[in-house]
Amino acid sequence: MIKKLMAANWKMYKTWEEARQTARELVVAIGHDLPSDREVLLIPPFTALQGVGEMLAGQGGYFLGGQNFYPEAEGAFTGEISPGQLTDAGCRFALVGHSERRHVLGEKDELLARKVAFGLENKLGIILCIGEKIDERKNGLVEEVLTRQLEKGLGSIDRNVSAKDLSIAYEPVWAIGTGETADNEDIAEAHLLIRKKLKDLTDQGEQIRILYGGSVKPDNCAGIIGLDNVDGVLVGGASLKADSFSQIVLA
Ligand code: PEP
Repeated sequence: MIKKLMAANWKMYKTWEEARQTARELVVAIGHDLPSDREVLLIPPFTALQGVGEMLAGQGGYFLGGQNFYPEAEGAFTGEISPGQLTDAGCRFALVGHSERRHVLGEKDELLARKVAFGLENKLGIILCIGEKIDERKNGLVEEVLTRQLEKGLGSIDRNVSAKDLSIAYEPVWAIGTGETADNEDIAEAHLLIRKKLKDLTDQGEQIRILYGGSVKPDNCAGIIGLDNVDGVLVGGASLKADSFSQIVLA
């Protein structure tokens, strides 16, 4: 059974104590109701990883993730963090290529491909984020953009990568943090395209989780999570409060 992954990206929000408190409130709000076919992933800022990890200790079905890393084991890379440092802090997964890393910080497909391969080699599960910009959608380029981002991003990994270690997050750039959600038909179409491509590129493409991200909220989550080929969600704004994220997790 593929478990749905309900992921919270806290971006550059929350102090150590705020993050711990939100994690604590979330675990209490979900209580014993976490369905056996769902997993929760909290992705706080680096400074709060250890504190949030303490709140999740002993809680089955909860995981910790990093927002980013640099594809080297160690070295003179001021301001960066390695996969080994993330796993040392308790991370099971890390995001690669979030749209803010691609479009605000200028990360290119070539660097992202190195991150995907190096993270996997170093026992970090990877969530590769892909998605088109609004002008690309208007110009009918969705398929071309998603295909390029997948082929390049996964271009340096083994075909036999385990589905437990790799997920894709489809996040249309125009839907992130804007309150605009792609409609269910567009989500289903994009996820089907991604599924087909994953089956071409990897042996376990049928099982690799494909998450949707882009203004997911308590009132639209159930409809999205029930679509074919949607194996979870990646949530920004609505994950910052335990109340709304717990409703999403349980939707
Ligand atoms: C995200 O940060 O990946 C995201 C989807 O943000 P939001 O839910 O706020 O659109």
